[in-house]
Amino acid sequence: MTATKKITRSQRFIKLEKKYGAHNYEPIPVVLDRGEGVYVWDVEGKKYYDFLAAYSAVAHGHCHPGLVETLISQSRKLTLTSRAFYNSKLGEYEKFITGFFGYDKMLPANTGAEGVESALKLCRKWAYEVKGVPKNQAKIITCENNFHGRTISIISSSTDPVAKNNFGPFTPGFVVIPYNDINALKEVLKDKTISGFLVEPVQAEAGVIVPDSGYLAACYDLCKKNNVLFIADEIQTGLGRCGYILACDEEEVRPDILILGKALAGGMMPVSAVLADDEIMMALKPGQHGSTYGGNPLACALAMTALQIIRDEKLPENSYRLGNILRIEIEKIRKEYPETILSVRGKGLLNAIVIRNQAGKTAWDLCMDFKNNGLLAKPTHGDKIRFAPPLVITEEQIIECVEIIRKTVRNFN
Ligand SMILES: *Cc1c(COP(=O)(O)O)cnc(C)c1O
Repeated sequence: MTATKKITRSQRFIKLEKKYGAHNYEPIPVVLDRGEGVYVWDVEGKKYYDFLAAYSAVAHGHCHPGLVETLISQSRKLTLTSRAFYNSKLGEYEKFITGFFGYDKMLPANTGAEGVESALKLCRKWAYEVKGVPKNQAKIITCENNFHGRTISIISSSTDPVAKNNFGPFTPGFVVIPYNDINALKEVLKDKTISGFLVEPVQAEAGVIVPDSGYLAACYDLCKKNNVLFIADEIQTGLGRCGYILACDEEEVRPDILILGKALAGGMMPVSAVLADDEIMMALKPGQHGSTYGGNPLACALAMTALQIIRDEKLPENSYRLGNILRIEIEKIRKEYPETILSVRGKGLLNAIVIRNQAGKTAWDLCMDFKNNGLLAKPTHGDKIRFAPPLVITEEQIIECVEIIRKTVRNFN
């Protein structure tokens, strides 16, 4: 007798990715097929709460009707011209986004990493041509445990060995200091070739590390005193994620260079932006920097709609209010099960719990249990789990998610 081993539809898709795709990710074994708002469905039709929201890119919820409408209408009209010519959307978008955030100029790009790279190049240009740093000596400060993307220059200042190992040689010109350490910043600013300080208002990828209150404002003041650009990577923390339109707003800090991405096109396509005033941005002259897809009309239309929705649907306010509720409720679960959950932290709807790895069971196992109970989350750095749902989530849905989390943690041991 031959037993034919039946594999599920999910297993079939997973096998395809394993066989034909590069193995640079280790996904939770669920194959998603459809999404709407805060929910996603797998190929077997099982429904889940999305508690990762594509690393905060899907702030508007999956397939937001307003974004779908813009995607369809603009894609019927014009999608890409390149910057060899003007197009009828870019100027309108530049006016809109600079007005929205209060800057003179915007430089359009696609992925977050490209936005960061562009900001680093812009900072260096400014250093030589405005600040007057001697040729090839400009340095940019970054923080330990940063995450700014995956290009060689960006990982050159990473302190994560997994992100760096065997990718060298690296780009020089970075100085790495501890995060949330004002004195460390003060110390390195004595070096007059320092030109910029690149920082995440909350270190999301590192496991949602929230700095002390007043840290960003103090860093900004030190940068001002030393004629150094304060560069905020708000690719993940911005656009409402942390309970404000920008996480820097909480301390009334206005970055010299602001980098946005992820939710800027609400999950429809990669769109990033670098914002700055003329004194900085005008250091870039024709031909010195560019991007074929940067500023394409489809991206411009989507970003305008995405920003309009963030404002109209009050996503930062919702994130602030529901983030507080979520942390209070998870804190109750932590008190009930302190042997499993060590701590809860976050801002707005960017949150994480730290798990005590016990008896061979890890954060990964807990995420598998969450999945089986209808909630998708991903572990990071072994013992942390991020809770970052779409910002359109309702209080009722948050409470339902809290119940899923409570039930799962109760049965974890
Ligand atoms: C995701 C992220 C990036 C990189 O964005 P990609 O679109 O993946 O290149 C950079 N900085 C921060 C803070 C991020 O969260």
